[in-house]
Amino acid sequence: MISVVVPIYNEEELIVRFHEAVAMALESAHTGWEVVYVNDGSTDFSLELLRGLQAMDSHIVVVELSRNWGHMGAISAGIQTARGNAVILMDGDFQDPPEVLPKLIDAWRDGAEVVVAVRKSRQERRKILAKLFPLFYRVLGALSDYPIPLNAGVFSLMDRKAVDSVNAMGEKNRYLPGLRAWVGYRNTVVFYDRQDRAAGDGKLSFLSRIKYAMDAITSFSYKPLRLSFALFFLASFMAAVLAFCMLFSKSAVATAGFGVTAAVFFVGGLLLLCLGVLGEYLGRVYDEVRSRPLSIIDTVHRSPAKIAPQFGVIPMQASSDQNQEGIEAA
Ligand code: UDP
Ligand code: MG
Repeated sequence: MISVVVPIYNEEELIVRFHEAVAMALESAHTGWEVVYVNDGSTDFSLELLRGLQAMDSHIVVVELSRNWGHMGAISAGIQTARGNAVILMDGDFQDPPEVLPKLIDAWRDGAEVVVAVRKSRQERRKILAKLFPLFYRVLGALSDYPIPLNAGVFSLMDRKAVDSVNAMGEKNRYLPGLRAWVGYRNTVVFYDRQDRAAGDGKLSFLSRIKYAMDAITSFSYKPLRLSFALFFLASFMAAVLAFCMLFSKSAVATAGFGVTAAVFFVGGLLLLCLGVLGEYLGRVYDEVRSRPLSIIDTVHRSPAKIAPQFGVIPMQASSDQNQEGIEAA
């Protein structure tokens, strides 16, 4: 069986169309399947629509989170809940086109254990993002201490083995494309054209994107910490040059005053920069030590009986709702 995990936050305009497209793509792959929709505290009618769809289609599992936890929190709740032999992660806004699903499944059937969907092109309405993404990937590629496939987001298929490995990791500030590469297993890529969002606006705020980019860099690179050393040498060199100039200058008190002020600012700035870098890492260390879950599942709604063609009927508990209080540690 294949599980597809889709985080949903205020996608009422899209959900019905999206599920139709996903169901069609999965049927064409001739496999048992379930779609795990994680409702990430939507404030519109997304949850009601999902529950309505579920009443008509027993392939649907709806995971209700206790509040809005963000993209990564929702995905991690989804992969904890998914029961497939392989799990596909995709966004619910048609940016990851459902037509690509059979290709991911074929690559898995051919023996790959992690199939990453790599963007060969990207449609992006928001021009600033279209410019920032390649820049981010370039910086990450240069800084990362571990090779991470670039131009790939969460859209991918992971074999049960890889899913279990990712689930077993306790990291709280997750950069999934990095972890997915880091766990290893037989990897392959499938290329696709990333579409623009089919309706509505992007749900991730600019600040949450910056945080995600910082997670990516800090969790796969120590280089920014080492930057302090480079800056220290640079500052020392500047100080030496200034001292040299002072020794040989022919007085001019004002010039010296300016020079000293400039030096103070320069060194002060460097110190602040280094403190900032330390702060980024320290904050994340604090998160890991507190060990709070990435998200909290309120309820998992499953259909009473699930028909999976190659397994027959899988009997479920009498009640269709399982309460999983406080589960889902990363
Ligand atoms: N999403 C979510 N929680 C959030 C924000 C977004 O579950 O707090 C979902 C959203 O519904 C979508 C996916 O995550 O299915 C990607 O979000 P979005 O399209 O806004 O991000 P972008 O594609 O702009 O990076
Ligand atoms: Mg999107």
